[in-house]
Amino acid sequence: MVDQTLDVIAVGAHPDDAEIGCGGTLARLVQQGYRVGIVDLTDGEPTPGSPGPEVRLAEARRAAETLGVAVRITLDLDNRQLMDSPQARVKLARQFRRFRPRLVLGLGHRTPMASPDHYQAMLITEAAIFYSRLTRWDDQFRGLAPHRVPALMHYFLNFRALSPHHPGTLVSDISGTLETKIAAVACYDSQLPPDRRHLLERIRIFNQQQGRAAGFEAGEVLASPTVLGTRDLMGLLFGPDKLE
Ligand SMILES: [Zn+2]
Repeated sequence: MVDQTLDVIAVGAHPDDAEIGCGGTLARLVQQGYRVGIVDLTDGEPTPGSPGPEVRLAEARRAAETLGVAVRITLDLDNRQLMDSPQARVKLARQFRRFRPRLVLGLGHRTPMASPDHYQAMLITEAAIFYSRLTRWDDQFRGLAPHRVPALMHYFLNFRALSPHHPGTLVSDISGTLETKIAAVACYDSQLPPDRRHLLERIRIFNQQQGRAAGFEAGEVLASPTVLGTRDLMGLLFGPDKLE
């Protein structure tokens, strides 16, 4: 069986990572006609306020529908104990071979004072992109042909930093999809009991601040781990949705 390919896959450690880090960008890519998927490495459970994994999975499905995402996959790696390992890399690389994305959006940087799973997810994602393209490894990939992912961009969850400390930083304009993103994050009732509900406003303000730094009403900071080039400088600077 050949799955329909995806243009973009966002990878999170837990359901809600991709929504919080790059949900506005994903909704915008869907608006632009791209096929977008999310792969969560774990089911994110247990967490303090959640009745169980079924509830969190149902929330994740609702959030994906809110963003317009075509595919959402939850891998069976361990929440709280996520570690970069050859097995974890292969599990994610199988999804890259299956859906053959042009762009992977993965977690960037560490999240001190929050889950260490995010940093492990960054390592797993980078390695899985490499594993995805390797030939002569059929015992691990069971007939899934190698796939070279042409582009990786990082998104960030380190809200407790004033700057992302990343060289290839750019701002993705989410002026038209900020509220869709907030609605997707709000699907996670289990993670947003009354005493944490204010986090939605904090995310909104954070994205407004990031966007305004680039002249947009709202934005998400993304960064390339490798230097970016362009063959179309004027398109990059003044393309259809750019401010002049
Ligand atoms: Zn997380």
